[in-house]
Amino acid sequence: MLFTNPAAQLKVLIDDRELQQRVKELGEEISRDYQGKNLHLICILKGACVFLADLIRHLPLDISIDFMAVSSYANSLHTSGEVKIIKDLDSIIQGRDVLIIEDILDTGLTLDYLTRSLRTRSPHSLNICALLSKPSRRIKEVNAAYVGFEIPDEFVVGYGLDFAERYRNLPSISVMKKDE
Ligand code: 5GP
Repeated sequence: MLFTNPAAQLKVLIDDRELQQRVKELGEEISRDYQGKNLHLICILKGACVFLADLIRHLPLDISIDFMAVSSYANSLHTSGEVKIIKDLDSIIQGRDVLIIEDILDTGLTLDYLTRSLRTRSPHSLNICALLSKPSRRIKEVNAAYVGFEIPDEFVVGYGLDFAERYRNLPSISVMKKDE
């Protein structure tokens, strides 16, 4: 089968239909909250790119998008929560209504650092929209205005999320269990 990796087992946690339905609901909620405003979306690469692509098609607003890449979870995330910005924004955010689009809120270290860093650039408003959240893993309290799904403490892939750059193209979110 196309997505079978002999070293791992995938079990669907959130299927395609549930994802599309929830993304539509999030889009409606965000559209209501930002009615009449120019919304500037910052997509955190690479994991949030599929979510962003689907979400913006449910935003009948005047929007603009930008991308930011930060160091990966596995190698450069220090316990201090400091993350390395690998690709910075192309445009300034001063005075703008900014919404960060993130794939998953896990310990909260990345978004805690990112929001503190972006606030120094004086946006008019700064909110977070995370597709997934693992509340039981939280180290830093991060206030996300929009969360798609709360999930248990499991490693998930698909719909933009990877394991070693694989599985981003899966249409659903699956739990990855490594064979023992
Ligand atoms: P945090 O700083 O909140 O601990 O981690 C955020 C980042 O860790 C996410 O943007 C994502 O890249 C990675 N991450 C955390 N949990 C998972 C997971 O279950 N699956 C995948 N693929 N990445 C994860």
